[in-house]
Amino acid sequence: MVTQNSHELFTEALRHIPGGVNSPVRAFRGVGGEPFFVAEAEGSHILTVDGEELIDYVGTWGPAILGHAPDSVIAAVCGAASRGLSFGIPNPYEVEMARTIKDLVPSIEKVRMVNSGTEATMSAVRLARGFTKRDKVIKFEGCYHGHVDSLLVKAGSGALTHGTPDSAGIPSAFADLTITVPFNDPAAVRQAFAANKGEIAAVILEPVPANAGLYLPEPGFLELLRSLCTESGTVLIFDEVMTGFRLSPGGAQEIYGIVPDLTTLGKIIGGGLPVGAFGGRADIMDHLSPDGPVYQAGTLSGNPVAMAAGLTQLNELVARGGWSELERLGNLMEEGVREAIAGKPLTFQRIGSMFCLYFHPGPVRNLAEAKLADREKFARFFHAALDRGVYFAPSQFEAGFLSLAHTPEDIEETRRVMVEALAVAGI
Ligand code: PMP
Repeated sequence: MVTQNSHELFTEALRHIPGGVNSPVRAFRGVGGEPFFVAEAEGSHILTVDGEELIDYVGTWGPAILGHAPDSVIAAVCGAASRGLSFGIPNPYEVEMARTIKDLVPSIEKVRMVNSGTEATMSAVRLARGFTKRDKVIKFEGCYHGHVDSLLVKAGSGALTHGTPDSAGIPSAFADLTITVPFNDPAAVRQAFAANKGEIAAVILEPVPANAGLYLPEPGFLELLRSLCTESGTVLIFDEVMTGFRLSPGGAQEIYGIVPDLTTLGKIIGGGLPVGAFGGRADIMDHLSPDGPVYQAGTLSGNPVAMAAGLTQLNELVARGGWSELERLGNLMEEGVREAIAGKPLTFQRIGSMFCLYFHPGPVRNLAEAKLADREKFARFFHAALDRGVYFAPSQFEAGFLSLAHTPEDIEETRRVMVEALAVAGI
């Protein structure tokens, strides 16, 4: 039961938790002020402990694609929990989850479950290194792959928002094995391959980068990565923790028609519980323990309650043909935003149910261009929208998410609020 308001809770939290939060972006440092605390959430709405109701475009950073607390997922969680919370022995849900993922994402021949997106990318990179017997990894500026040591180099998301894209605590020997390249820059990628011939274990990327706002791969860029990896025996890893099951049943790889060697997943497959997965070519996946020499494990991996939540969410998405409805809602949102920002020096980018409004005239095709955004104006806009009941991600460098629970009325109200919030921001 909630007995304190957000300010009291945050004051108390600051005494016990670093920065008062368990994940940095939640601290609102990118926009100033203090975070609100949630009492409950349902559908497209959040109710704060202060009694405010908000239209939510964060959706717990992506997982809540059906909206918050869908009846079907809650029922599945309660049913599974009543039969036991964790066994550490195989359970039938794990097999059904693996089959479901493989059916939706054809490049995945075998898949292993983990407990977060970070674990998924960490394991995929280790597997690629074990498989190729090489050490170096190429990643892209502004892409975020969780807080994996070797991938927290020029990272996005909170690391970018808080000015620490290269984290302290990572030995330079690790970071030295990570080659960073600007996204959408074919010459830089070619140069990185040429300079490290026969040494690159993996190329890892968000095929649609959404941790420095949101920008799209330019025509031919993903194809180039695919062919360079194939030519050089490098493992191509698509990090679809955010885009997997969101952009289409088969994720970004289905939309762009590229077959990666490995894929990392998370967020939506957990239905709001802590889940990640990595999978891909069977000949690579078979290098994992106990069949192969690459060690990877997890006490709670394949947890029955988490599997039940994720499977139910995926099955409902498929049964409802959720992706065309999300595209319809995305389109409606885009129309509303374009009307609200007409004639202003702003850039709106969207793919399906993911979007970003950059406070910059554009174009935005990579991290360097994203960083040109006016973060002060964004912060003023963010707070003005929040004061009026619309919650966008508290950073210019995060994407927004629509869910199947958002209604045309929510979107119309959002458009109305945006017009006012832009005026407050002085745009
Ligand atoms: N990869 C991508 C593309 C992500 O967006 C995120 C988190 N936002 C992660 C990996 C890490 O996932 P987690 O926070 O579950 O560790």
